[in-house]
Parts: sequence; C-alpha cells; structure tokens
Amino acid sequence: MSVSFLEQAKAKILVVDDQPENLHLLSDTLTYEGYEVKGVINGEMALMVANSVIPDLILLDVIMPGLNGYQVCEKLKANAVTQEIPIIFLSASNDPIERVKALSVGGVDYIDKPFQVNEVLLRINNQLKLQAAQREILKLNTELEQRIQERTAQLEAANQELKYEIQEREQVSKLLQESEEKLESILNSLEEVVWSADVTTSNLLFLNPAAQKVYGRSVVEMLNNPDLRLESIHPEDRDRVELSLASSLNHKNDLEYRIVQPNGEVRWVWERSRLIFNQIGVANRRDGIIYDITERKKIEEELNYEAKHDSLTSLPNRAAFIERVEQALKQSKKDRDYLFAVLFIDLDRFKIVNDSLGHLVGDELLICVAKILTSCSRSSDFVARLGGDEFTILLNRIKTIDEANIIAERIQTKLTSSFCLQGHTVFTSASIGIVVGNHKYQDSSEILRDADIAMYQAKSQGKARHEVFDQQMYAETKELLEIENDLRQAVLKAEFILHYQPIISFEANTLYGFEALLRWNHPTKGLVYPDKFIHIAEETGLIVNIGEWVLQEACRQLYAWQTQYPDTANLNISVNIASQQIKDPRFLATLDETLAKTRLSGNALHLEITESTLMDYKPETINLFNQIRERGIKLNIDDFGTGYSSLQYLNRFPISILKIDRSFIQGMLSEKENFEIVKMIITLARTLKIDVIAEGVENLKQFKVLKTFNCQLGQGYLFSKPVDHQSAELLISKA
Ligand code: C2E
Ligand code: CA
Ligand code: CA
Repeated sequence: MSVSFLEQAKAKILVVDDQPENLHLLSDTLTYEGYEVKGVINGEMALMVANSVIPDLILLDVIMPGLNGYQVCEKLKANAVTQEIPIIFLSASNDPIERVKALSVGGVDYIDKPFQVNEVLLRINNQLKLQAAQREILKLNTELEQRIQERTAQLEAANQELKYEIQEREQVSKLLQESEEKLESILNSLEEVVWSADVTTSNLLFLNPAAQKVYGRSVVEMLNNPDLRLESIHPEDRDRVELSLASSLNHKNDLEYRIVQPNGEVRWVWERSRLIFNQIGVANRRDGIIYDITERKKIEEELNYEAKHDSLTSLPNRAAFIERVEQALKQSKKDRDYLFAVLFIDLDRFKIVNDSLGHLVGDELLICVAKILTSCSRSSDFVARLGGDEFTILLNRIKTIDEANIIAERIQTKLTSSFCLQGHTVFTSASIGIVVGNHKYQDSSEILRDADIAMYQAKSQGKARHEVFDQQMYAETKELLEIENDLRQAVLKAEFILHYQPIISFEANTLYGFEALLRWNHPTKGLVYPDKFIHIAEETGLIVNIGEWVLQEACRQLYAWQTQYPDTANLNISVNIASQQIKDPRFLATLDETLAKTRLSGNALHLEITESTLMDYKPETINLFNQIRERGIKLNIDDFGTGYSSLQYLNRFPISILKIDRSFIQGMLSEKENFEIVKMIITLARTLKIDVIAEGVENLKQFKVLKTFNCQLGQGYLFSKPVDHQSAELLISKA
C-alpha cells in the first residue's frame, strides 16, 4: 500500500483498552503517526463508537471488565455495519489457544502484551494496507464485474441480433424453399413438358413428370439416356427438329412434330424453346416447353377430312377432286407421256326420282351409285362427288382414250340393273363426259369445264351415254355462251321480230289463223331461229321477258290486221308460252294488260303450252287455266304425243285444241305405228270435243290422209312456211 493512500485519507482507528496507560500510549503514538484515533475503555463503548464512526481498524483488548474482547468482536461481526472492520486483538495471555480463538471469532491479527509500539504500528499498517488492497481488489472486482456485465450485455445484444439475423435467414431460406417447392409442384402438376438441355452436349438437364405421358417413358429413363429425346421424334420429323434445335441462331424456336412412344403410339407436339445465355453472353442452355396437341391435330384432321369429303357418300368432294386434278396436271407438265382422264358423270332424271320418291330414296340412290363408281374404277383412280347427282372420276395414267371409254361403259352397264330402295324399284342411268387431261391444260377448272361440256353433249344426244370431249364441242358451247350473253342484250336492243305461219282450215281450204314464231335479228349472225336460243332463254329465265314482248307484238299485229281487213275479223293468233311464263305469278295480269293495251279480243288469242308444262300442273294451275278460259282465250296443247299424257288426263283441263307433233305427221306414211297414233288422237279428241291441228304437213299425201281421218286443221310447209308480217299481210289481203 502506498503512502499516498494514507496521505489522502486519514485512517480512523478505534483503540479499546481498559488500562488507561495503554490507551494513552497507543492513542498518542497512532495520532502521531497520522491516524485519527478514538479511544474507549470498555466493550460497550467500543460497540457504540464502532457503529457511529465506523473505523478503519479496531485495536481490541481481550481481557476487559464487562464484555471481553471476543464478545465485542462477535457482536461487531454480527452487525452488518461493522462486520467488515478488521480487528487486531491485544492480549496478555501467551496461550496459543487464545490466539486461535481470537482468529476464529473474526480477528485478523493478535498482538501480545506488553506490546512493542513499532510492532503495533507495523501490524496496523499491514492490516490497513491489506484492507486497502482488499478494497482495491473489491473495487477492481466490481469494475470488472461491471465491465463483464456490460460486455455480456453487449454480447447478448449482439447475440440477439445474430438470432434475429438467423431467424431472418431462416425465414428467407424457408421462403426460398417454399418457392422452390411451389415451383416444383407447379412443374410437377403441369400438363406441358418442361425441359432444359445443355447447348453443347444437348443432354437434358431437367425434365418434368409430364414428359412421361408424352414420351411414354419415365423421366429418369429420359434423363439417363441423352439420345432418347431425339430418337423419340418421328423419323420424318427428326432431321428438321434436330437442325432447328442445333442452330444457335434460333434464339427462339417454335416447332411442330411427332413423338413416337415405345408402344408405337404417336403424339403430336408443339414445342417452344429459347436459348439461355450466361453473364458473358454465351448460350449455355436451351429451355423449352412442349404441348401435347394430339387432340387438336385429331380435330384438325377430322375437319380436314370433312372439308374434303362428301358426308352422304363418304367420297372425296369437289375441293378434294380439284386438288387431285391439279396434282395430275402438274405431273403431266413434268412428264409429257403422262395422260389421265376425267369422267364427268351426271345421273339422268335424278330430279324426278328425288321429287317423286322423296329425298331418302334419292340419297340412297346416290350412295349406291357412289359404290358402283368406286367398284368400276381402279385403285389408283380417284372417285369424287361434286355435289347433287354429279360425280367425277380421275383415271390415273391411261395410255389411250379407250381405257376411259371402257370404264364409262362398265359404269353404264352396271347402272342398268334396278335398285331396290325403301321398297321402291328405281332405275337410273348416267350421261358421262370424258376428257383426256394433258399438259396443254392450264388448270383443273378447264379440264372440269370440258368434261362438263362432254357430259352435256351426252345428255343432249339422248342421255345414258358417254361422249369424249373434242374441240367442236367446245366451239358449240362457246357459241351457246355467246348467245346467252347476246340474248340478254337482245331484249333491250329490240332485236326480236315475229314470223307468222298460217293455220289452215281443211274443209274450205281457208285461213284459220296464225302461229306467231319468234326470230332473232342478230347483229352479226343474221336471222337466228328459236332452236338456237329458245332453250337458252328458258334456262336463263330470260324467256319471261321475251315472252311478254311476243305476246304483246302478236296481239298488236292481229288487232292491226283485224281493223285493216274487217273481213278477217275472226282470224286468231297462236302464241307459244313457255312453262316459266305459266309459273310467273304476274302472268294473268300480263295477259289482261296486253289485251287491254292492244284492244284485241280474248277470243282471238290462242296460247300454246307444251304437254310437259301441262304435266307439271298444280291445283293453282287449273285455276289459272280456268281464268284464262273465262277471258275467251283458248288453250292449245303443243307438240302433243311427245309427252306421256293420256287423253283421259286432258279431260281435267279446259283444252281447246291439240297440236299433233310434226314427228307423227312426218312418219305417218312410212311407219304404221305413227299412222295409227295420228288416227287415234284425232278420233279420241273428237269425242272429247277438242279440235286437232296437224303440225308439219309437208305434202299432199299427208294432207289427204289427214282429211280421211276427219282432221280439220293443219299447219305446215305445204301451206306456207312461217313468213314475216308483210308476207302474212299479203295472205290476209288475198283471203
Ligand atoms: P313449235 O311451237 O312446234 O312451232 C312450230 C315449228 O315447226 C316452227 O319452228 C315451224 O317453223 C316449224 N314447222 C312448221 N311447219 C313445218 C313443216 O311442215 N315442216 C317442218 N319441218 N317444220 C315445220 P320454229 O319457228 O323454228 O320454232 C321452233 C320452236 O320454237 C317452236 O316449236 C316453239 O316451241 C319455239 N318457239 C317459237 N317461238 C316461240 C315463242 O315466241 N315463245 C316460245 N316460248 N317458244 C317459241
Ligand atoms: Ca307452237
Ligand atoms: Ca309444235
């Protein structure tokens, strides 16, 4: 302990001794030495002073009256205020047991009496130093503890922080794990295949479970065998896919291809992949997704099939046929020796079957025909249904036209046998047009056009036959088309005129009336006769307008003659009426307007309708006929005998005159059958009170025979050809 310590704070010492000389000596000496000294002479006082002053050290005599030193010491030690004060005993006893006792009750030292002042000082000094040192140690300890506490607190804080951080990290890693799990579960639950592959080795790095369904192999198998991915691709698609994936230029890649599973099942897939680049911009991975589009492809194929097939017969349809013809045409352009033929097949009178026996029978008939056509052609041929009752066959690679003719004949032979459809026995036949396809054709439409022309030729030649297309047919058809075009203009340009053919009354050889016959004054072709254009006018519907004009012109002309030549006021005019005109709802109104406008009496007008127009009758047709009759207008049946009507049937209609078709009159003398027919028609008409006009009377012989049949009216070159209105007027004026 340093002197400075003492200098700084005077140590307080309590001296307890019942012997005043001792007390004085010690007090003086100690005071001299610089201590602050309190002296007391018994134990009781010592306890009091110690409690109030709290000395730094007590010198305590052992043997004292009253409380002895040990007892005082015990009391001091028992008191919290004083228990730390070091006590040095002073005792006269040299007994070692006393010393032990002194130390055991709490004393720190023991000085024998009589004492040496120096020794006392030394021992006091020692104790105080010890005391100070202990205090210092205590202080240091406290400081240390404080420091430790602080440090601990710091550490704890740091620890806490660390804990937080750890917790945070745990949270982050949990989130990370969660999101990884999520990703995995998404990838696992995806129906699409997700893959990732090394760009250089093209080995798979990742593949999700959906791959199993598409590849028909386990993901593990796919990952373990790097070649499987490519080997699974359909051989026809493989090169294309491989090339496309290998090209590093294809940053993004969309592909459609097929995958063949080990069991042979084929899946259509659509794949989108893209290159993944690392930090330095080098492509190291390709990630892709594969969609199974097999179902879509199936639907597409079905739709495609439907788009190219006829649903009734399951034959390829028009679109498919055209495609096939184009293909053949392409081949013929490459290979000049390659020839093919197209057969255009149209059923005869199919409409009649359909209308009279119903659509179901019609449909069944078409199905039967489709089968026959297929059975008659070779496997390399292509049979199609264009629509309606039109079929086509492409005969692939023929050497000569004979092959096409043979197949057409085969078809026609097979069609001659009857079909039993829905309890009905149905007969049919077909008109077939044949065209040889070669490199000279520009496209399929030209080929079909020519086949169609040839078919029409077969129809007009009498049906149930086949015709091979030639250039003449084309020329004729072209002319037809031109006529149709010109015909549309003709009405507007007033290019029509009427010729008049006299009808003769046999009895007195007098003029009975005229038939008005249409002529077309064509600007380049000259006078065109009805057989060249009437059927076109009918097919195009132009006949309604033309017919209106004819009616008006005929009525106007007759009225003009009647007024000019009053002697001939009972002459009549016959006007040909097409069936479309009868069907026109405005027909009756047109008649009324015409009569009103031309002022001709209805009694002077005859309407000529053909037998087929009559057969096409409906209840409202009879009504119309009756209304026509009410106006005094007469109804003549034209071309009688060429249709299928019976005289009995005619009874239903208000008919005035039958015109026996000129074919019967012309054959009358050479064919007995015709002779009989003409005779019979005239006889039966008479009983029905219907007049008869014999058409096409060309010679006297015919005229005479008709007269013996009691035929009263006739028309023909024998009397006059149809003539223009001037010539007709000349006839009237002479009459
Ligand atoms: P159709 O009504 O039977 O008219 C009679 C046709 O026979 C006329 O031919 C006439 O020239 C012809 N002919 C008259 N006598 C003889 C004869 O002794 N020998 C021969 N070989 N032929 C004779 P055209 O004028 O060429 O008329 C042909 C057909 O055109 C007509 O036959 C008729 O069906 C139709 N037609 C004429 N004009 C019209 C019309 O204004 N409207 C309608 N819808 N059809 C008409
Ligand atoms: Ca006629
Ligand atoms: Ca006729």
